[in-house]
Amino acid sequence: MAQVLDGKAHAECMVAEVQAAVAARTAAGRRPPCLAVILVGEDPASQVYVRGKVKACAQTGIRSLEFRPSAELPQAELEALVDRLNEDPEVDGILVQLPLPGHLDAKAALHRISPAKDVDGFHPVNQGLLLEGLPALRPCTPSACMHMLAAHGVELKGRHAVMLGRSEIVGKPMALMLLEQHATVTIAHSRTRDLPAVCAQADLLVAAVGRPGLVEGSWIKPGAVVVDVGINRVEDPVLARRIFQADPAKLKAVEERGWVLCGDVRFAEAMAVASAVTPVPGGVGPLTIAGLMKNTLQACESQVG
Ligand code: NAD
Repeated sequence: MAQVLDGKAHAECMVAEVQAAVAARTAAGRRPPCLAVILVGEDPASQVYVRGKVKACAQTGIRSLEFRPSAELPQAELEALVDRLNEDPEVDGILVQLPLPGHLDAKAALHRISPAKDVDGFHPVNQGLLLEGLPALRPCTPSACMHMLAAHGVELKGRHAVMLGRSEIVGKPMALMLLEQHATVTIAHSRTRDLPAVCAQADLLVAAVGRPGLVEGSWIKPGAVVVDVGINRVEDPVLARRIFQADPAKLKAVEERGWVLCGDVRFAEAMAVASAVTPVPGGVGPLTIAGLMKNTLQACESQVG
């Protein structure tokens, strides 16, 4: 059986580190870092994510400000809010929760955030710095994956890493971070031919696709390390019976409770083939929020010292 890479435990360590650094700042008479979160509309999943982020701020001593404009907010008003927060010296980090309602231009809003306050690391300036391998605010999810791999001593140099998914948020920055650590990187995506064969070459397989149980055990090279970024809610019993054949607990949850969370990888099948696997939930997710806290502290220290 593979080792389960416990993201929760690592996240607790990271949160404790940020907490100690914030406490040291305030003990030295400096103000705590401050994160402004903008949530437009009432998307239920986004509300859960924002609640988690605000809770993590409270836990670490970071001040949080929440802005919750209605779903009808015009683009100009969203950008005016970002401008105001950019100019506010008391605010170190700005986060616009995605997805935005359909009429809003998410890219334009994200590009409006000052690169120094871009704690999600999505601004082209920060993405460009990452491309050049220079210090920057880096996207939290791929940074969290790299943190977990380093903490487990996973060797990347010269190994073949397959990044499944090419989003701006996870796939592309993760591929760059793996390359920076001297892995040989393949980026696979929805148009890749013979995906199982490509995945089967991977010493390290990272899945960020958003398709529940897409990656089967037979796609995984024996002994590979598997990082599952996907977070999917499965309610359909037919789909559940197909993807949870080897996972009676998840199947039971769907049958009895009506839903279950799972990743892009069939966890139980992966556990029988790989050397290490991240679970969903409890893998990459908690580390992503801890990474956001770290970025907010970094943004504060680089702006106000
Ligand atoms: P996205 O929709 O922006 O990108 C998905 C990528 O997967 C695309 O590049 C697409 O080409 C590829 N893809 C889609 N279908 C495919 C298929 N059948 N075969 C191969 N490739 C396919 O998604 P994203 O924002 O990168 O998120 C991916 C998943 O990760 C989602 O489940 C999301 O909820 C999750 N996520 C988790 C965290 C976390 O903190 N753990 C953070 C961000 C995203």
